[in-house]
Amino acid sequence: MNDKILKTKHGEIELPLFMPVATRGFIKAMPWKKVNEMNIKAVISNSVHLSITPGLEKIKAKGGINGYTGFEGSYFTDSGGFQIIREELVDIDDEGIVFKDKKSGVQIKVTPEKSSEIQEIINSDVAMMLDDCPPYGSPKERYEISIERTYRWGKIFLQKRVPGQLRFSIFQGGYDYDLRKKSLDLMLSLPSDGIAIGGLKIGEPKEVTDKIVEYVVPLIPKDMPIYLMGVGDPLSIYEYSLKGIDIFDSTYPTRNARHGYALTSKGPINLKASKYSMDFNPIESGCECEACRYYHRSGLRELLKSEDPQFHYLVTVHNITFMQKLMKTLRENVDMAKDMVKHYVKDPNTQIQG
Ligand SMILES: [Zn+2]
Repeated sequence: MNDKILKTKHGEIELPLFMPVATRGFIKAMPWKKVNEMNIKAVISNSVHLSITPGLEKIKAKGGINGYTGFEGSYFTDSGGFQIIREELVDIDDEGIVFKDKKSGVQIKVTPEKSSEIQEIINSDVAMMLDDCPPYGSPKERYEISIERTYRWGKIFLQKRVPGQLRFSIFQGGYDYDLRKKSLDLMLSLPSDGIAIGGLKIGEPKEVTDKIVEYVVPLIPKDMPIYLMGVGDPLSIYEYSLKGIDIFDSTYPTRNARHGYALTSKGPINLKASKYSMDFNPIESGCECEACRYYHRSGLRELLKSEDPQFHYLVTVHNITFMQKLMKTLRENVDMAKDMVKHYVKDPNTQIQG
């Protein structure tokens, strides 16, 4: 369905792509040996968090983030703009954004110049520009400010070319077609290697997200990779990849693994449930991941109950394997992909079920 390929300095990545989240450079519960063996092509990290922990000095000393961590695939780095709608925003003005890192309490002002410099040192494969993402429900004037600001910041960020690094733009415009088109046209006038649709999936009704995606995708040049940041539950990936989205990321498979949920083609199962106590089947028959090859549901449930860290590792391995299989199936056979997601619900945050 999609023959687009993203070429990074670490190789070619077939699209559509799902990226696990590695906020501070590492995927939780996953050793790199396993990540590399599983052929995970790309992860996304947060450049602001990386600049605080482990810090730019250490990353620079190892020639970049791959050298520091040992991951052999591609790193995407987010500029942190998305954090505006989270608790970490302290202040925002025309110059940039002040963030406060929740863990360390460190406060940092990120301007487009600073974001460019941070991501150059991190030496990621794909650097996302700093954008101004207003929270859902902001007044129209706020979206107009965000469009102008994002354009000005994009001019500074995208015109700086770093050898070996792709730079993606982001456009805003809220939920209004005219504002979306205005922001998109401005951002497409700047040089970029891909584009993200910003300001979606931040609390607006699903019909609104769908309408905006359907409206904007045909306006974007066909060969340009399109990224829907922060979206990555199986049903959304299926639906939005059919609408033309190429790149997704989410904590969905890793976060749910840590909470006891394993992803299967019959929907997510909650391994805490007592109905699995005598279930000696693998999480999903036919899955060749380490968890399904060596463990049954009953055994995994015991590991979860005893809070054995193996559980997080095993179910994370399985859930990422499921996501990889979904992406491969989407590339090869859309009807089969539909079968894999048909038991998933529309709002995975409120309706995940056992
Ligand atoms: Zn498995």
